[in-house]
Amino acid sequence: MSNFAIGIDIGATKIAIASVSDNFSILEKEEIPTSVSSSAELWESIAQLAKGFIANQSGEILGIGIGSAGPLDIKAGTLSPVNIPFWRDFPIIELSKQLSPGVPVVLHGDALALAHAEHKLGAGRGLTNMLGMVVSTGIGGGLILNGKVFAGESGNSCFIGHHSINFEGRPCVCGRRGCLEAYSSGPQMVAIAKENGWKSESDSFIDLAEAARQGDSQAIESIEIGTRAIAIGIVNFCGTLDIHTVVLGGGVVQSGEIFWEPLKKHIKEESKAISFLKEIEIKKAELERDAGVLGAALAILG
Ligand SMILES: [Zn+2]
Repeated sequence: MSNFAIGIDIGATKIAIASVSDNFSILEKEEIPTSVSSSAELWESIAQLAKGFIANQSGEILGIGIGSAGPLDIKAGTLSPVNIPFWRDFPIIELSKQLSPGVPVVLHGDALALAHAEHKLGAGRGLTNMLGMVVSTGIGGGLILNGKVFAGESGNSCFIGHHSINFEGRPCVCGRRGCLEAYSSGPQMVAIAKENGWKSESDSFIDLAEAARQGDSQAIESIEIGTRAIAIGIVNFCGTLDIHTVVLGGGVVQSGEIFWEPLKKHIKEESKAISFLKEIEIKKAELERDAGVLGAALAILG
């Protein structure tokens, strides 16, 4: 019999819920799509699953950890994930507290949850300092400093996708110019390739990566731009904090050497000027499908 936490991982298209034991193994897990008709229906599905998982365990529940796509407001206990339009200032903490009255509920951003999971159980095991980064339909970050999660004052630390690397650069969805994300998210690399003449019906980064492997010059060029932007972002960040290890997860990094080779080249190039910086080590995230719920549960078990 082991004690456990509930982990709730709120992503753009699906929500995963799991019970996770205090030795970090997943006891039960289910996923539900976010494409339902109402906020009440979505929350009801989450609540039913979580209550069922809690009832099925004989150990003691230690708390409920939530990892969510942003933006979120930790102090208010609310979230407004961009891709779940009927959740705006949604009071997730207050509602989660009703699932098991009296137990702690902790909310973290999804990239922070991923960084936490990779640091505890994956590619970042044993590191003192580490930047975790997600490169997917958006770009997010999570920071481990002195062996601990650093959430920031509002819970949004490492908002790395929306730091500008070019103040006259591409307009970004957030309203600024030249954000890292405006060059290097999967959809933005596809958009840049198309602006430069890539002829494809597809909007998928997987297809862009395949075209680059086949030698398509616009596809190669847009991955070149995207990986250079990520490298500049990483070097800015590592130089600012004087840390030197980065764990990268998310869909885009699964594309193999067509992504990693130019990324490593640009990191080497961009970091030359910062003399104190040790060689930046970039690692691929190790935990796959379960990283989200594990990271969420670690907000309690960590
Ligand atoms: Zn932005």
